[in-house]
Amino acid sequence: MLQKICSCGQTMRIKLRTVIYSGKVEIDNVPVYTCKKCSRSEVYPIVKPDLTGLIGKLGARPEKQIFRFNEWNEWANILVEACNTTKQPDMAAVERLKADRIDMLLDLYSLAEKLGDGEWKEDLSKRLAQISHSAHIHKSAVAP
Ligand SMILES: [Zn+2]
Repeated sequence: MLQKICSCGQTMRIKLRTVIYSGKVEIDNVPVYTCKKCSRSEVYPIVKPDLTGLIGKLGARPEKQIFRFNEWNEWANILVEACNTTKQPDMAAVERLKADRIDMLLDLYSLAEKLGDGEWKEDLSKRLAQISHSAHIHKSAVAP
């Protein structure tokens, strides 16, 4: 998952890159597969719906602004953390961070429930869905 094979045959690795939209909006920390050999790059498919959703909200003539994509997407958040701890994060490190993150989100969710904070609950369940949704994608990708 942290790497895939490029159409040129080289291994593409995940990197956190800045995506510029409309020449004005900077979106930092977007996970992108990149190929060293042919410079091809591809947005990590799992985060694509969130990225296009964010760009959709900006409209056709956005103001100059900077976003941190990891604040919008749990996968980007986990990858940023993984890259902060090790230069070449492996799957085990990512899985560990993911498990910790899910635990934390579930704790916060029960707190939000106790407080009766509907908006917070909604935000937390969206974040949980971002992580568990991708787990589902991986499972179905392996299944025959
Ligand atoms: Zn390539």
